[in-house]
Amino acid sequence: MGITRVAIAGSTGSIGKQTLEFIEQSQEQFQVVGLGIGSSAEAVIEQAKQWKPSVIAVADESARREVANALPGVEVIADQATLAESADVVVNGVVGFAGLPVTMSTLKLGKRLALANKESLIAAGPVVQPLRKIKGAVIIPVDSEHCAIHQCLRSSDRADVEVNKLLLTASGGPFRGRTQESLQQVTVEEALKHPTWSMGPKITVDSSTLMNKGLEVIEAHELFGTSFDRIEVVVHPQSVVHSMVEFTDGAVIAQLSMPDMRLPIAYALSFPKRATVPFGTVDWKTFARLDFEAPDTQTFSCLNLAFAAGRVGGTAPAWLSAANEVAVEAFLNGSITWSRIAEVIDATMQHHDGLVPSIIEDILHADALARKFAVLELSK
Ligand code: MG
Repeated sequence: MGITRVAIAGSTGSIGKQTLEFIEQSQEQFQVVGLGIGSSAEAVIEQAKQWKPSVIAVADESARREVANALPGVEVIADQATLAESADVVVNGVVGFAGLPVTMSTLKLGKRLALANKESLIAAGPVVQPLRKIKGAVIIPVDSEHCAIHQCLRSSDRADVEVNKLLLTASGGPFRGRTQESLQQVTVEEALKHPTWSMGPKITVDSSTLMNKGLEVIEAHELFGTSFDRIEVVVHPQSVVHSMVEFTDGAVIAQLSMPDMRLPIAYALSFPKRATVPFGTVDWKTFARLDFEAPDTQTFSCLNLAFAAGRVGGTAPAWLSAANEVAVEAFLNGSITWSRIAEVIDATMQHHDGLVPSIIEDILHADALARKFAVLELSK
């Protein structure tokens, strides 16, 4: 096998930067052919000087002009979704629902998708699933938990009948062990202080509410076809066990490594091989024990909201994810308190119309409608 051509959507975000860090150490195996961003012109110009991609996608118009002027000879386009054309694998590191076109087009073109953008699969599961049947279209999850499950499942060649349960681990976030009352006055700064993972602001707030885990439950259901009754969340504060699979004979297989997103990125880019540079190697001297406990769903009600939306199915996960994006953005810009995030999502879900999507327009409609209700809830 020759060199793997990689395109990175969301290249200046947390996942994008860590993808380039991995490739930097494996340059004989990978070539960066495309970079995609929303509007961070300066940052992508820097990246392009080092990586020399043949195409750069820039969504924002004035940023696009800036990039084109700075990099004569490089094709500068508007749409990140077309990055898949010149690549063998596309890393989708776009934040939120905006990542959907990249997910769809990569699979449609029969390319491998290294999926860090969980929202696209969660919101649009019913329209993304059929695309996975296209020859060459394969999703390798970059989310650490799903990457772990993907690895654990490789221990069975009859996973469809041998898996009893997926056990998703959760760090519990910065507010683990806190009471509802004590969380009334938390600041944005406190919510952004994740104890074990370094990630972008949206997902870090999602971790503090346990919505990230809730979204990951739906993501696991979509990726592995496991029913919600067979997915369980286990709080594990050290974030060393990244998830586990329990088989029908009671055996549990787990994947362990120190929390480092470059490992799941490297796994997805190298699959079916193993990456040859190690990230997150366990230093057994640094911790004396591994703890596990049940999640506090009373205080962190977002987890139950996600299970409920997942079980309803159809467009309910799209509504959940959209309402969450609106609420998290409002929290980050200071217009609502942390405790209001779950309330806004819950209230938005009361308006869900039960639509079952069959085409992408149904998903876009559901997303827009849910955002409208969520924005109305913000001002209440
Ligand atoms: Mg995760």
